[in-house]
Amino acid sequence: MSSTSQVPLLSEKHSGIPENLLEKAKRAKALIYDIRTKDTSTRQRLPVVPQGIEKYAFIQALEELAQQLGKANVEINDKLLSVASAVVNPSSTEEVQKIVLWANKYSIPIFPISMGRNLGYGGAAPRVRGSVVIDLDKRMNKILDINPDDYTCLLEPGVSFYALYEAIQAKGFDHMWIDVPDLGGGSVVGNTLDRGVGYTPYGDHWACHSGLEVVLPTGEVIRTGMGALPGNNTWQTFPYGFGPYSDGIFTQSNYGIVTKMGMTLMPNPGAYESYLYTFQKEEDLEALIEITRPLRIGNILENVAQLRHGIQTIAVKGLPRTKYFTGSGAIPESVLDIIDAEFKKIPSARKIDPSTLPKDDYFFSRDRIAAGVPDLVELLWVNWVPNGAHVAFSPVSPIRGTDAMKLYSLGKRRHDEFGIDFLPAFIVGLREMHLIVEIVYDKNDPVKRKAANDCLREMIDDAAKLGYGEYRTHLVLMDQVAGTYNWNDNALMKFNEKLKDALDPKGILAPGKSGIWPSRYRGRGWEMGKGSGERSEGDGVA
Ligand code: ADP
Repeated sequence: MSSTSQVPLLSEKHSGIPENLLEKAKRAKALIYDIRTKDTSTRQRLPVVPQGIEKYAFIQALEELAQQLGKANVEINDKLLSVASAVVNPSSTEEVQKIVLWANKYSIPIFPISMGRNLGYGGAAPRVRGSVVIDLDKRMNKILDINPDDYTCLLEPGVSFYALYEAIQAKGFDHMWIDVPDLGGGSVVGNTLDRGVGYTPYGDHWACHSGLEVVLPTGEVIRTGMGALPGNNTWQTFPYGFGPYSDGIFTQSNYGIVTKMGMTLMPNPGAYESYLYTFQKEEDLEALIEITRPLRIGNILENVAQLRHGIQTIAVKGLPRTKYFTGSGAIPESVLDIIDAEFKKIPSARKIDPSTLPKDDYFFSRDRIAAGVPDLVELLWVNWVPNGAHVAFSPVSPIRGTDAMKLYSLGKRRHDEFGIDFLPAFIVGLREMHLIVEIVYDKNDPVKRKAANDCLREMIDDAAKLGYGEYRTHLVLMDQVAGTYNWNDNALMKFNEKLKDALDPKGILAPGKSGIWPSRYRGRGWEMGKGSGERSEGDGVA
């Protein structure tokens, strides 16, 4: 299966690539195959069966599900080293309900994914071995609505950023922008539910959603916000509705399967400009962050600023002009001057004129992404090592120089200790910043894998001691990260567990996600921590 030519187009497959990115996609794939040292397509015959059910009963149960959904939509997963036992492809909310009822009947763990491209945080893998993955993207990938007057859309889980972008272009709605993360191939719903971010002023995807349809772990379907009012026309324009605002509990959680999500779209500002500044010295980081804070909070820099370490270039971007969404006049001189004067307070600062850069410079990829045009260059750094895999360490802090330096030196020290290259980037939101440290390692080398894991676990604890927590994490690290949010004798986790037990009494939906274990798993050693190594399972279920 070492073909590099099989990159499907968006016109052929919902998860495909837009035509204009095909060459880039082929190159990206070829690079990965070039440095791969082991065939990863070896097969074995039987699936991993989840704890708590006999193999025969499990196979029988899967056959029953195949009768309900059609044989072609229930696939036993026999890939070597896989964590999932089977993958099912529902076509509708009703079929998702059927799967959930089936899982309750046999107490089988299920794990929903949209496109499974949550790269760096677990991808498509479930937390519990033998879980049945509900792959929503194959047959639930419709754009249900794009409203050019309200600047909103309504999406099924299998709609990628590419697909949404192309659909908006195809309809000629160029007065609207979407917001895309670093890579456009993931699902808008999946990314938003994991509270991922992008790089236009609408970069906080969760803050920009409006309305969910959710299948609960016991099979009921709810619509949140205005969606609860039959005949409404405000589901995508007013996110709150009436009563407790429940949407938040469906993010980074295991409380429901989202089958539809509303999203707001940004007016095209007409003109925009991205900036690239370089700074020579690591010590400048502190001053640079101090300068960036008021520019961001004051919305002079209107979108997320990125500070990248040398290897990936230190790039800072702005989008100075969004108040009016028509017209394409020049960027006001005053804004350019403010930004320039502020950054040049650092003696080594140099503003790069994009016209002096080579056409394929990474700057232009960032420039497109800052304007809501999906791209796929970002992940090329996984080729830093053969069989490259990556896991992110993503602590949050205020936009302060002292915090940046503390996190930077914490990361640097641990990377040196474990012999790992340090690839930090600060992503400056409105009042906070995420430090994203991507550890790239050879996934086929147990020593490197262990070093990556140990380094991450040390950094999580180091950060927590200083009062920093992660905004998102990999499946393997979720118990540890959840454990750092332990104020008042773990009051928040106790609350999460109460919700879990009430909503999912059989404990079937994504057990362990975000460190939330259903009661039948608790107290049996399922949590992964410093001493676990690669052991991910506990001792049975109740
Ligand atoms: P993407 O392809 O956008 O990266 P994923 O499909 O990998 O997104 O999903 C990211 C995370 O969100 C996963 O942990 C997954 O369990 C969860 N998730 C994704 N889609 C849904 C959904 N429709 N309902 C509930 N949880 C979901």
